[in-house]
Amino acid sequence: MTQPVDAADRRAIRPVICYPNDTLPAPDLTLYGKAREGAEKIGEVTVPPREAASIEIPVGCFLKITSIEGPQVGDLNLFNSADLSERFYSGKTRALHGTHVTTGDRLWSNFPTLRPLATVTTDTLDWYGIDEFGGSVHDVIGTRCDPYTGRALGGPDYHHCCHSNLTRALAQTKGMSLEEAENHVHDVLNVFMCTGFTRDTGQYFMKASPVRPGDYLEFFAEIGLLAVMSACPGGDCGSEHSSDTAPCHPMLMEVFKPLDGRLDGWQSPEINPYDRTHGL
Ligand SMILES: [Zn+2]
Repeated sequence: MTQPVDAADRRAIRPVICYPNDTLPAPDLTLYGKAREGAEKIGEVTVPPREAASIEIPVGCFLKITSIEGPQVGDLNLFNSADLSERFYSGKTRALHGTHVTTGDRLWSNFPTLRPLATVTTDTLDWYGIDEFGGSVHDVIGTRCDPYTGRALGGPDYHHCCHSNLTRALAQTKGMSLEEAENHVHDVLNVFMCTGFTRDTGQYFMKASPVRPGDYLEFFAEIGLLAVMSACPGGDCGSEHSSDTAPCHPMLMEVFKPLDGRLDGWQSPEINPYDRTHGL
C-alpha cells in the first residue's frame, strides 16, 4: 500500500505504558528474605528430562527451581491447590510486568480472582537483562511446545512435548483422565528460557539459555499452590524442540517452610474485591 503523507508523523507518536504498575501493592522483599533464612525443606521432586512432575507448595512457603546437571528450560504451570480453575495467567502477568519476569515480579491468576499466586523472590539470572537481540530470561510470551502446533507446521508427531508432559503429570497427580487434565493445562512461565521477538519480522525466537547448573529461580507462595513443570524436550532451547535431538537434563523443585514467626505481619493478598458476577 502507498504510505499516507503523514506516515512518519504517525510512527513518531511516543508509546504509553498500557498498565503502569506502580500502584500495585509492592511485595515486601525484605520480609520474604527474612522468612527464607533458616527455612526448613519440606519437599522435593526431580523432574526427569522430557517429562513433567508436580509438587504442592503450602501458602507462605517457597518454591525453588534449580538447574542441575546441565542447561535446561522448564515449562511451569501453577494452580490454586484447592481449586484448579484458578491458575496462572501468563497474558495478564505479561501486561503488568513485561515479557520476562524477575525478582519482585508476581505471577497472577486468571479472572475473576486476578491476584498474585506467587512472587519471584530470587533470580540468579537477573544479571542477564536484555541482550542485543532483544532476548531475556524467564518469559511469559511463549505458550508451551505441543503436538498440535507441531502437526500444523508439518512436523512428525512427538509425544513428549511440554503440553503432553504437563497433561500426563497433572492427570497422574489428580487422578484425572488425560482428557480432563488437558483442559487445565495452560500457557506457562518459561523458566530459564531465553526468548524475544525479532526486530525485523516480530517473530518469536529462542536462543540457548544462559542457565548453568546451580542457577535457580525462587518464588514465595502467596496462596497454596500446585506446581507442575515439564523439562522441555528442547533442553536449553538453543536449537529445536519437539524432538529427541537436543541434550536434556533433569531439574529440581524444592519446597521450603519458614520458621515459626518469620512471616508475622504478612497477609495473603486479595487484590480483587469483586465477586464472580462483577461486570457480567
Ligand atoms: Zn517445551
